[in-house]
Formats: sequence, C-alpha cells, structure tokens
Amino acid sequence: MTTAEIIELEQKYLAPTYSRPPIVLDRGEGAYLYDLEGKRYLDFIGGIAVNSLGHSVPEIIAAVAQQTAKLMHVSNLYHTAPHAKLAKLLVDQAFPSRVFFCNSGSETIEAALKFSRRWANSVGGDAKYEIVSFEHSFHGRTYGAISATAQPKYHEGFKPMLPGMVYLPFNDTAALDAALSEERTAAVVIEPVQGEGGVNAAQAEFLRTLRNLCDERKIALIFDEIQCGLCRTGKFFAYQHHGIEPDLMTLAKPLGGGLPIGALLMKQHIADTLKPGLHGSTFGANPVACHVALAVVSKMINENLAERAATSGEILKTRLRQLQNQYGEITEVRGSGLLIGVEFGDKVDTIVAACRDKGLLIGSAGEKVLRLAPPLIIDQRHIDEAANILGAVLAERKAVASEK
Ligand code: PMP
Repeated sequence: MTTAEIIELEQKYLAPTYSRPPIVLDRGEGAYLYDLEGKRYLDFIGGIAVNSLGHSVPEIIAAVAQQTAKLMHVSNLYHTAPHAKLAKLLVDQAFPSRVFFCNSGSETIEAALKFSRRWANSVGGDAKYEIVSFEHSFHGRTYGAISATAQPKYHEGFKPMLPGMVYLPFNDTAALDAALSEERTAAVVIEPVQGEGGVNAAQAEFLRTLRNLCDERKIALIFDEIQCGLCRTGKFFAYQHHGIEPDLMTLAKPLGGGLPIGALLMKQHIADTLKPGLHGSTFGANPVACHVALAVVSKMINENLAERAATSGEILKTRLRQLQNQYGEITEVRGSGLLIGVEFGDKVDTIVAACRDKGLLIGSAGEKVLRLAPPLIIDQRHIDEAANILGAVLAERKAVASEK
C-alpha cells in the first residue's frame, strides 16, 4: 500500500482523536526511523519518551521472540516467573515496595488513586478521600487520570470529573500548607518533572516540604514517573535528585521498550490494605511484556543509561542555548537529562513540521514548548545533527521574517 492509501484508510476507519503528519513510519533502527518512501528521520521524541533504548534493539527483539515462543498469556489466575523477577528488579532500583502491573500509564494512575484512597480510608475514615494534584499536570486519559490532570482542556465535554479533586499551583509551598488536610486529603499526585504540561521541574524545596506535610498529615504521596522515570532525567528515577521517596510511584512508557506495560510501586503500608479481588487486570503482568521489561531495565542498569542521559542532556542543552543566543525566537531552554523543553514566544507547530521536513522528529508540550525526549542511547553525532536541523529551520524563519 502507498502512503496516500494508508492515510486514506486511517481517515475513513480510525476514530478522529489524533492529527498525524502526512508520512507513514515503516521501520526503525537505533535513533532513526524510516518512512514508507525510505526517507530517514532522527527520532528526538522517541514515541513520547518510550523508545529509550532506540529502535530495533537486539536484546528486545530476542526477549520478545523468546517469551512469545514459550508462554504469552495465562492471566493473573496463575503464578509466572517474568513478573516476579521484574518486580524484584524494579524494587531493587527504587525503594522497598510491592508492585502492581497493568498495561499503560493511565492504568497505573487509576490503581494509585484507588489504593491510596483505600489506605486513607483505613487510617482516616470516609471523609479522607480528596486527591490533590497540580496545575499543568498530566496523568492520563481515563476518568480518574483526567480528573487528576489539572488542565481544563482535558475536561472539556467530559464533566463531571471524579469528586474530591483539589488543584493547586505548582511549586507553591504556601498553597500546600493551606490545602493539605489530615481529615480530608487521601493523596497528592505529582510529576517530579511535568512532561506534557511544558517540561517543568518541581523545585527541591517544594518536594521536600510536600514530603514533610504528607508525613505529618498522613497523606499518601504519589510520584508520577511515567514520563520522567527510568533514567530519562539523569537518575534512575527523577525523585532520586532530591533525597526523598514517595509512598507510591507510577511507571510505564519506556518500561516495555515499546510494548504496553505499567507498574505501580507502593510501600508496604499501602499494600497492607489490599487483598485478593480488590483490583485486577486481565493482561496486567503479561509474561511477554514483563520479560521484555526485564531486558529493558537490565540494559538501563548495565549500560548506566541514567548517567549517559545526564551527560548527553547537558551537551544538548548547551547546543540549544547557543541557538537561543543566535535566534531571538527561543525564550528558554529547560529540563533535566534527556527530557528537554525549548520555549518559544509563539506557537511551535510550524517548527515541528519544518524540522520533520528536514528529517528530525520532535514533539511539543503545550502550544509554545518544543519537547525533546530522544532515545537515551544518542551520541554526539545525533546531538549535532538535531541541533543543525533545528538551527537551519530557525535560520530560514529569521530570513523570511526579515523579508517581510
Ligand atoms: N502520566 C504522565 C506523566 C504521562 O506523561 C502520561 C502519558 N503522556 C501518562 C501519565 C499517561 O500514560 P498512558 O498514555 O500510557 O496512559
């Protein structure tokens, strides 16, 4: 089938929930993707922070083949090895905890909200059910997750949201003190680095105050590390930059190397309030997804991808700041590790499209921020190529603007 035929089929048969560019991606290798016509693209969005090891990774291909040939699915009615091994590996990198596996980021958020309300109910009774989240957050698209997402555009036409949601300004310590209540608040959910909301990092002092208040007022603290976790920001988990721990942590995106899997880690006191039958998932802890995730996490550990992301992120940010000095359009370069936001004075959709035409795929986070979330395996060559393409796009825009 041709590019035009595939796009026509999609337009006829797919729900119109996405607006895709007019290319059909066909295969990938390392940090590159190729479309149906054979055009090459440097992938600096990585399937929205998913393809952290790159594309066509030999270890992932081997793990998929090995486990699909052996056992693909039996459901959670039975014991299997891959999820047990994966749970141990994740907990060893994080904090003493228990793991619940499901199939996406949103599902980990649903589980986190349910489990923390259940725990809060056990310590504070029926009135302790409020969930606090922060402006510009993004936690997913299911009802609990959009309810926790404090961005009105995601609620439009879907109201009412879940009762008991409280939205606070991000990085505002005073607002925390006023809103967190021992009697009413069950949980606080926060991204240590907000992804979709514009690549905004929580300040260390804010997170430490939040941790202290949650301890003091018996509130479950949930870190949503779906986008910023698993080496992306230069530490294995983003919270490790700050010397504090959450009570629950959600992981998904890069965990399955491209296969759907989510993991919720929870401390023992939360797990103690659960029992068989309280929550579940038919596909959760799927042996193939878990076996592949084992290969992904092992590679992240063995190749020290967190440190690599930290180093590459600094080099990339330096290059982007040079572009900022050269071209007035960029107002700020921010982010940590390889989760980087480049803010512009105006909408960035035309920049995303122009970069794509020149062979660079990047994303956006909100209207005015370019988001870069490349595979963590990129090297100097890839950074130079990306910076050169973005620089060429900005130069062309400057030339056009000066002609006007
Ligand atoms: N939380 C965060 C921080 C995310 O970035 C996302 C996805 N962009 C989600 C939750 C939802 O994950 P999923 O799309 O896998 O449901």
